[in-house]
Amino acid sequence: MKSRKSPAIAASLSAAVRRLVPDHPKAQMLQSRLSAVQAGYAGEQIVDRVLAQYEFQFPHAVFHDLSLHSSTRFQIDTLFVTSTHAVILEVKNIAGTLVFRDHPPQLIRTLDNGQTASFESPIFQVERKIELLQDWMKEREIHLPVCGAIVLAHSRSPVAAETACIPILYPSGVPSFLRNLPASPIDLPSQEFSTLNRQLLDGHQDYQPAPIAETYSLTPSDFINGVLCKECPLPPRMVKNRYYWTCPVCGQRDKDADSRALRDWFTLFGGPLSNEQCRRFLHLPDRHAAYRVLRKMGLTKTGGCKNRRYLS
Ligand SMILES: [Zn+2]
Repeated sequence: MKSRKSPAIAASLSAAVRRLVPDHPKAQMLQSRLSAVQAGYAGEQIVDRVLAQYEFQFPHAVFHDLSLHSSTRFQIDTLFVTSTHAVILEVKNIAGTLVFRDHPPQLIRTLDNGQTASFESPIFQVERKIELLQDWMKEREIHLPVCGAIVLAHSRSPVAAETACIPILYPSGVPSFLRNLPASPIDLPSQEFSTLNRQLLDGHQDYQPAPIAETYSLTPSDFINGVLCKECPLPPRMVKNRYYWTCPVCGQRDKDADSRALRDWFTLFGGPLSNEQCRRFLHLPDRHAAYRVLRKMGLTKTGGCKNRRYLS
């Protein structure tokens, strides 16, 4: 069993949305990207709950948000493994009427107001992940059949598909699908089944998204710096007294607001970070104040005293 955490990219995008200067031309695009990531995560949690509530009467393991590497890195929303199959569940949480097209492979979504948008075909995504997981298993001489399904978390989405070579399910249909997988030529003995599950866990590598500034071609001047209040909309800069950061608008007091601001910096720009950059970003009076924040965060250090840099 591998549990699911809120994706790192959600925290990065939300830091970017909060810190973009007012009326920034990319604000809407970043906000809709953040909403899509949050909807995706909510959809995955719906499927997690269905799986957790169902009592399967056969040995199985569930891996949430598994990130493996074969010829390239690939990420699986949910992997359900039994002694006879490995099943990739690709979860989509997209509102509207959905049409799965084959040529070219695309998912077209139409909202009630007639607005349409196209997405990469989930059928193509699942087929690709099946191949990559087959390669991953082949490298380890595991011969378990791999299959997959698309799960539409929005269970009221009307759907049409030109050809359905990959099953398209609603969350409530997932347990029955998993109970009725086709006959398999393989039935792993329990020892090998446990070994495979351990290898899958060991093979997982947390995915670190690229810094937001790099992904969306943004520079430090696109963002508001300073220690910002987490409670207020259009967050004002907090002010430091001897012990606390205090919001001048809502009065919120926060001892760790400076660490949170620096985590924003790392998620926006990556690193490494110098004492001088830290001082300017947090609006601190001198290098000693910056040093105290950097030390408190327990960051990795590089370089000697003169050109010391910090990594997240
Ligand atoms: Zn406030």
